[in-house]
Amino acid sequence: MSAFAGILESTATGLTLVSAGALAYAVRVPSCSWLDSSVSRGAGTRPAIALTFDDGPSESTAQLLEILARYGAPASFFQCGTNVRRLPGVAREVAAAGHDIGNHSDTHPLLALKSPGFIQRELSAAQEAIERATGVRPRYFRAPYGARWFGLRAAQQRLGLQSVTWTTIALDWKRQTPFVVSRLLQGATQGAILCMHDGRALKHRPDISVTLQAVRELLPKLIERGFHFEKVTDILCPTKN
Ligand SMILES: [Zn+2]
Repeated sequence: MSAFAGILESTATGLTLVSAGALAYAVRVPSCSWLDSSVSRGAGTRPAIALTFDDGPSESTAQLLEILARYGAPASFFQCGTNVRRLPGVAREVAAAGHDIGNHSDTHPLLALKSPGFIQRELSAAQEAIERATGVRPRYFRAPYGARWFGLRAAQQRLGLQSVTWTTIALDWKRQTPFVVSRLLQGATQGAILCMHDGRALKHRPDISVTLQAVRELLPKLIERGFHFEKVTDILCPTKN
């Protein structure tokens, strides 16, 4: 349904807006002017992987930060505004550790069938919550459930948000650790963006033990294979390195 919505959205907005969007991206991030409105992988020119985590911050995010710090691995966190208002200190810790913070909507709704006004409010509220808690104004947006809909592109353009999806999604919210690790290892190619979760939508005290154990096992394996880790910001811009 999301691919269909994407096609509908492109047809509805027309060429003028597409060109305006391309120009906006070019102005905002000069070294990334080649980017389309949504990206699912970074430059394949070096053995880099982007680790990304959605649905946080949660009560367990600090444990994940510890594991990442042990390996000196930078990552990107797509946070929900509601979770940030609940745990502003955790959101701040993520930023202070030097990770990227992206926008993952305010209340984690399925955006399909929602009005452009609703979509705009979801993105704006999350943007404000994140900026208030961390001092960082996100530049990247990941749609809940990966679903795009009419009005999303315009809302992103107004807020200067680049859409980032993933190369491989972990299914860490419903599968066990061995499956998750093996799936991510298979998807680990140069420039891959891997999607995991340090929260479970808006759930309080979510059980993310599968995610934590998967990251513990995955990082040394990827390093052994010669990969290093980059934030979304860096993996999308080949000229920066
Ligand atoms: Zn999500």
